[in-house]
Amino acid sequence: MDSPPFVTRASPLGGVGNFASRFLAAGELVLLDADFIPLPAPASPDVYESLGMSSAAAEKDRAAPHSAESLASYLSAFAGLPAASRERWLSLSAGPVPAPLSAKIAAVVAADPAAPPRAAAALGAACCNAFAPSALYLSGLSRFNHSCEPCCIYLHEGTGDAPGPISVRALRDVEEGEELTVSYLGLRLYAPRSLRREALRESKFFECGCGRCGKGGGEEELKVPCPSCHPRERRLEPEVEYEETEVEYVRVSEPPSADGVAASCPKSGEAIHATCQPLVVARAVCRQVFSHLACPPPSEEEAAADDEELLALASAVCGPRHSATCLMSLAALDRNLQRVNRSLALGEAPDELDLAEGIDSLGRLGC
Ligand SMILES: [Zn+2]
Ligand SMILES: [Zn+2]
Repeated sequence: MDSPPFVTRASPLGGVGNFASRFLAAGELVLLDADFIPLPAPASPDVYESLGMSSAAAEKDRAAPHSAESLASYLSAFAGLPAASRERWLSLSAGPVPAPLSAKIAAVVAADPAAPPRAAAALGAACCNAFAPSALYLSGLSRFNHSCEPCCIYLHEGTGDAPGPISVRALRDVEEGEELTVSYLGLRLYAPRSLRREALRESKFFECGCGRCGKGGGEEELKVPCPSCHPRERRLEPEVEYEETEVEYVRVSEPPSADGVAASCPKSGEAIHATCQPLVVARAVCRQVFSHLACPPPSEEEAAADDEELLALASAVCGPRHSATCLMSLAALDRNLQRVNRSLALGEAPDELDLAEGIDSLGRLGC
């Protein structure tokens, strides 16, 4: 494409960002970044041994956003590059990463006697800039800031699971001078504010300063079925779960008040204690949904099985219209559409079951 319709300059969201240099119409191609360094999939089973970590600690680390395994794979990719490419990689570096990760990076670098100079800075840059499935993009893509109400979307143009070019398109009309933003959150974009912000803090190390986060309010995640209106152990009564009776929600305040009260029933005014079991269970299910979306199991079969289980659990504990339940329906729909897409790309008829399940998910989401 001709020179892209944006300029890169300092951003109020932090660091630098890309700003529209002219009006952009909805759907317009903003960038096609095909200049990337692939990052290998983690394949360093010995890294935990070399770091002297117990198997339990290793397992916990594997589920974290930047595992020692992925750091070790970044390191071997960096070490294998010619000097000029290493410089380009390092040009993505935007300063030091916070302490827990920088300590882990230092340990991984120290455990590799062949680590090249500036390896720690390279690993920090990779953690902040890698795009799934796993590559560093060098011609503009990495300079798009995140917003929870993005005006652009990025799309993988490659086929299969290997990294390929990524395109960026405008999601709506964009005025000249407006900052072009994308979402780093995948499906978690539809999660409520506190969970979105936590994910960005943990994986990308920034406090989201976007307009949607600034608005506050409407925080569906802090709602759970009222334990007073729906007395129960864990699951909602079947007639509530299947929507014959409407679910009454309470808003949970965090942290609870000094006397441990987290909410009050909007009907009876009864104070609901933070340790009340249905409330604790519902909060735990919301967290589980979110961490599943952040780190689904690598095998598609396992991920799909977890989707199904969590969807049923969220619906039973939080109700069929709760944001956690809707997020799991979306995840199931997303997986479904990917399979349908793959069939279509291969010129095959999509699986009828996938289509039926997709329609079912749409129905659940009220589309
Ligand atoms: Zn935000
Ligand atoms: Zn109530």
